Amino acid sequence: MSWTVPVVRASQRVSSAGANFLCLGMALCPSQAARMPLKGAWLFTPVSKMTTVKSELVERFTSEEPVHHSKVSIIGTGSVGMACATSILLKGLSDELALVDLDEGKLKGETVDLQHFGPFMKMPNIVCSKDYLVTANSSLVIITAGALQEKGETRLNLVQQNVAIFKLMISSIVQYSPLCKLIIVSNPVDILTYVAWKLSAFSKNRVIGSSCNLDTARFHFLIGQKLGIHSESCHGWILGEHGDSSVPVWSGVNIAGFPLKDLNSYTGTDKDPEQWKNVHKEVIASAYEIIKMKGYTSWAIGLSVADLTESILKNLRRTHPVSTIIRGLCGIDEEVFLNIPCVLGEDGITNLIKIKLPPEEEAHLKESAKTLWEIQ
Ligand code: NAD
Repeated sequence: MSWTVPVVRASQRVSSAGANFLCLGMALCPSQAARMPLKGAWLFTPVSKMTTVKSELVERFTSEEPVHHSKVSIIGTGSVGMACATSILLKGLSDELALVDLDEGKLKGETVDLQHFGPFMKMPNIVCSKDYLVTANSSLVIITAGALQEKGETRLNLVQQNVAIFKLMISSIVQYSPLCKLIIVSNPVDILTYVAWKLSAFSKNRVIGSSCNLDTARFHFLIGQKLGIHSESCHGWILGEHGDSSVPVWSGVNIAGFPLKDLNSYTGTDKDPEQWKNVHKEVIASAYEIIKMKGYTSWAIGLSVADLTESILKNLRRTHPVSTIIRGLCGIDEEVFLNIPCVLGEDGITNLIKIKLPPEEEAHLKESAKTLWEIQ
């Protein structure tokens, strides 16, 4: 098996620069090896004249380059990046997966581990490198890399560190995949989505923040737990910032089309005897709780990102709460990225839903915008 081949070809479509991919002990076949711009790590003996089992068994039938329609790249192979990778693979969404991380050992280990999925499922090519050339011609690039917030470190400090990291990352991504869509996962996600949009100079539909899609899934789960109904049958949205100032849209929460507010007009307010607003508090607290217990969150965010990926790559035109530039909507004048319901398809965000919120929820959304604007 030669997982490296598509990378070499992808790189040739984009750049003639030499690459130094970590391609994990898989041999290049002779004709491809001859074309490989060798730089350091690749050491092999030319075997073009040698008869091999492969050359006896398999004959090349096409001279055409493969065209990848749904190449996905993931930057950052930490807990979140790998959960995204496994979720995307298990859903069979991409025909090539490229991974990039600074930590070569981890990158290589995770990639080999993923490649061993092969015998159990229909697998796309999986390639990895520190060099962004490996991401060439991606349809979608998912960014999960970034500095982690240290104990006592301010959010502003974290933003400044991540802006510096994003400057390098985004320019490389844009260089090799000028037509891709970007999904930003790294925190603080709404601000970094704004940063990625500015740095990439992409049109606004192609830069998407993955934030309240997960919060909304948690919201559905917790409502379902309270009612004894499957979360899929619970409807309602968390909008605004992914974080403490997020906005639960209680006015729209419904089961089978019946709004909870019609049954209990105090739903989500302080006056509510059932204290439904605690469900939103639990949504906010859940990431902190999970991190306290296992050190990080991964599975739900991985599946949430795969859900967005599916809508984009399959052009499903489903609505998702994702972070996008919201200026001009809901009386917000600041140039901030916040979560509102967006239609996702092959162009990224194809449409926005023109939400009309009751005054108290709109005021909450404006506060969310103000919080982000101050940090920006
Ligand atoms: P992690 O530390 O396990 O992984 C981060 C990875 O990024 C590491 O492997 C690191 O080597 C790599 N990295 C750092 N700088 C890099 C660079 N310049 N280039 C390439 N790789 C680089 O962290 P994690 O738990 O995987 O979390 C990743 C991010 O996702 C964090 O910012 C976290 O807060 C965020 N997150 C977001 C959501 C959401 O809903 N949007 C949910 C969970 C986590």
